[in-house]
Amino acid sequence: MIIDRFDATALSAAFGIDMGSVDGLGTGAAWGRVAPGVATTHQRHDETELLVIVAGRGELAVGAAHHPVAAGTVALLEPFEDHVVANTGEEDLVFLTQYWRDGARAVSSAAPVASEHGERPVFVFSTPPTPNGDLHLGHLAGPYLGADAYVRFQRMNGASAWHLTGSDDFQSYVVDRARREGRSSAEVAAYYSAEIAETLRLMDIPLDQYTVTNADPGYVPALKDFFTRLVSSGAIAPADGPALFDPRTGQYLYEVDVHGGCPGCGEATAGNICELCGEPNTVVDLAGPVAGPSGGAPVTGTARRYVLPLHEHADAVLDHQRRGRVPARLRELAARLFRRERIDIPVSHPGDWGITPHEADGAGQVIWAWPEMAFGFLHGIQRLGERLGRDWTAARPADDWKVVHFFGYDNSFYHAILYPVLYRLALPGWTPDIDYHVNEFLLYDGLKFSTSRRHAVWGKQILDADSVDAVRYFLARNRPEVERTNFTLDAYEHTLTATLIGTWQAWLHDLGQRVADHYDGVAPDAGNWTPEHAGFLGQLAARLGALAASLRPGGFSLNQSAAELDALVTDTVRFSRRERALAQAGGMPDEVRTATALELAAAWLLAHAATPVMPRFAARLAEALGQPAPRQWPATVELIPPGSKITLAQITFFHPPRPLGPLGAAHAAEHPSDASRSQSSGSLA
Ligand SMILES: [Zn+2]
Repeated sequence: MIIDRFDATALSAAFGIDMGSVDGLGTGAAWGRVAPGVATTHQRHDETELLVIVAGRGELAVGAAHHPVAAGTVALLEPFEDHVVANTGEEDLVFLTQYWRDGARAVSSAAPVASEHGERPVFVFSTPPTPNGDLHLGHLAGPYLGADAYVRFQRMNGASAWHLTGSDDFQSYVVDRARREGRSSAEVAAYYSAEIAETLRLMDIPLDQYTVTNADPGYVPALKDFFTRLVSSGAIAPADGPALFDPRTGQYLYEVDVHGGCPGCGEATAGNICELCGEPNTVVDLAGPVAGPSGGAPVTGTARRYVLPLHEHADAVLDHQRRGRVPARLRELAARLFRRERIDIPVSHPGDWGITPHEADGAGQVIWAWPEMAFGFLHGIQRLGERLGRDWTAARPADDWKVVHFFGYDNSFYHAILYPVLYRLALPGWTPDIDYHVNEFLLYDGLKFSTSRRHAVWGKQILDADSVDAVRYFLARNRPEVERTNFTLDAYEHTLTATLIGTWQAWLHDLGQRVADHYDGVAPDAGNWTPEHAGFLGQLAARLGALAASLRPGGFSLNQSAAELDALVTDTVRFSRRERALAQAGGMPDEVRTATALELAAAWLLAHAATPVMPRFAARLAEALGQPAPRQWPATVELIPPGSKITLAQITFFHPPRPLGPLGAAHAAEHPSDASRSQSSGSLA
């Protein structure tokens, strides 16, 4: 046995105070005395340290946090936590410290479950929405929810990841909308841009960068410079080529203003891109084209535009697609497209809504909004860097940038085929490393979302603080990741009522009630473990592995993630039902409290694992378990610290469905054209 007593005469100066070692305890140990008005030097070490204050009072600073301490206070310091002990009282502050090495603990403190992206900046883009309308659930379920959950998971794993998007003001769809609303294009863009930003806020999707192209000073000259680089590369040049015009007004026709049969798949399509097969068209190759403005057959004439012979760059595209995460759908599109002999893509169009090139040959034209977007991404990174104090420049992108794009399949051609070529031409020194995440279309009651038929559920109609977790869960579970999926209000309400309220919340309330009834409302410590208890712990660990796999870049799937969250709850409900007999039997309190501690561990795991998909629910669940909001993805399943205050039974996590809110004045105007579709770009159909 060892007895050691504090001896003020046997101390020597160390770490800015007086210390005396205690030997033979099996770990490092020492007495410390801090005189009034004195503080230790800053400490940061790999050992885990236990501090017991035995006399006096003062303050323990850990990082930026300050904690009062006095005789009777115990503190555990994790490896590498910066800490200082200061005496703020009138008498000596005396403490005993014990410290030991734990390699695994030090590693997990130093490098919390590392992200695949390491130290690289990760720029996660959701397609900049077109400000010709607000966002409906088709938009929200796709790129925006995907990018948000991706960023949240990456941050929990220590990555420096940001969510960037913006308002793609110079789309032809804005001009079309302005015409219908009798307002200027700039007014329409500014109005819907603000509405979109508000809807994203209601969806709990914070943005780190929201570039409004028509309002960002510096954007226009920088874009013109980017275009000049394309021209200087010699790969794009002005050319007179066949084009379609309205028979009555003489208006140049592209995108929203013309439709016909797709040259790729034969289905009905709007100008320039087919949302069904993903292939571009040049309008003059549409079968049976119809002019939007007059509704008649267009007149063929000649227009001068800058044209990119894309077919000359097939190797560059295939080379690029070997580098990042490129879903099979996109590789197939590239392979299919490059079987064409020629693909001549105009990158400017006659018009006055947009940005005119520097070049004299560009007079009367604007840079097409889609090539513009290739630059807009880089510009957004530069703007973000300016606020963060990072030296990121659109004109000099770095090879260590990791770019991740979320978009709908109808944008695949632009993102995964056109942009890599534009980057190679304008920025030949840059090897872009880009991951692509593509979604298909979400239908509503079996039909496309449509403004004209009021056939849509708008974000603002369904989202509020009470519903946002349910909406995010339902969309995550059902978003069209592999093929088109169908949204119905009935299915949403059934999931909310039967799954989230009837199963998740019912279990959490029941668990909270049992802790209140049998353990005074605080988490019990685990006692004796039965083999079934150990088996359930293993089951939770396996579920954690599957949840991580569903959120990592390679296997990213919110369908999978939401299914795993639900499976975690149903596993636990089964376990709870099975173990109930133990409590009813009586006489085995040490086994019963282990089962309860395991259910609380499952709830704590749910709070962590739900953070990317349902951040608001996750934070409230953590609070109800007496824990801080989860910030780090767990390396393993952990029991809740015994004694934590449990308030599960008192909290309403999910509220019953309510009738949809009104459409709002923004959508009262009729929108007779169903030709403008593109769910991922925000244009409304
Ligand atoms: Zn097609």
